[in-house]
Amino acid sequence: MAHGITWAAHPRPYADELLSSWIVRVAHANGLKLQTFCHIEFGEFEIWNRDIDRQAPEWLLQRLAARSGRAFAEVWNMTLAGYESRLYYRRHSNGQQRWILPLQTVARSPKGFGLQYCPACLAADAAPYFRRAWRVALYTFCPLHRILMADRCPGCDSPVALHRLDVGRSDVYGAEPLSLCWNCGFNLRNAPQSPVHEWDCRAFASWRRLLTVIRNERSSRRMIDVGRLDVLHHFCRLLASMPTAFRFLGYVRSRTGQRGPEIERGRFAFEHRPLAERHHLLSLGWWLMGKWPSRVRSAWKSKAIRYNLLLKDFANPPDWYAAAVQDFNRRNLAGHRHSQPGSQPIVPL
Ligand SMILES: [Zn+2]
Ligand SMILES: [Zn+2]
Repeated sequence: MAHGITWAAHPRPYADELLSSWIVRVAHANGLKLQTFCHIEFGEFEIWNRDIDRQAPEWLLQRLAARSGRAFAEVWNMTLAGYESRLYYRRHSNGQQRWILPLQTVARSPKGFGLQYCPACLAADAAPYFRRAWRVALYTFCPLHRILMADRCPGCDSPVALHRLDVGRSDVYGAEPLSLCWNCGFNLRNAPQSPVHEWDCRAFASWRRLLTVIRNERSSRRMIDVGRLDVLHHFCRLLASMPTAFRFLGYVRSRTGQRGPEIERGRFAFEHRPLAERHHLLSLGWWLMGKWPSRVRSAWKSKAIRYNLLLKDFANPPDWYAAAVQDFNRRNLAGHRHSQPGSQPIVPL
């Protein structure tokens, strides 16, 4: 394959396909092992030493676009950078990116469980592939199949690592489907399916709607309310990692009757938390945003959460959130309300 011409085989990206999933399929469709393909295309640049779905340099995307005959924008949109201003306001090249699961790749070896999958989606695919939405930390269940996501092989507990699929194989003849575990060969399509317990209809309906928009992000141009996601993120953080969080968590659990898994104490990022913890915290966060702002006001009145914590470390909260929280302030309750009568904040769903 000489540079400057398109590949002999250039499979088109599937709906919401993740860049790394597509690269593996392109290599195999051209009859090459992934490592060989990458060496030809990218030379000494080791694309699997980093989170290529998050940190693909522009020249690499341009080369992929030129060689596949696709528009640069289409290739770029397979990366997690495409979520800028959709799930978060600002993109960081390093450090934790809001809502994006870390891969924690160390010398090509995946240490984290940052690529989730839905066994039912994989089972329904003619050719199994991995979705970009599965890297999103709030995507803890599949809105289509209403089952919890999985983040490891049920056979050997290894994380998903697409780039290791053909390591150690002598050729890629009849390349294995992407749904096989690289370590033990278990077909992830057959992973156990756990139905989501939707214990609050409205909270889960809002959550499901959002996940459906994220899932169909490239076809539907419906706007996601990033400010609302910021509030959800802030609640998840307050419920888990602040010094007084456990009073708040205990209160919300007793109000909702949800026990959930043990939440590990610490100030690490929400995105680093295990799947079960994230799912539980998010469900409580969605519940808190329901009937806005009465549930949060009740929590504050019950002294489960202090007023200042609701605004602490929350840069640029949406106006409807800041106005409601300021209204909790005792001085405001004493007659210095900031809100005008009849100007109830609107919370778009
Ligand atoms: Zn699914
Ligand atoms: Zn395995």
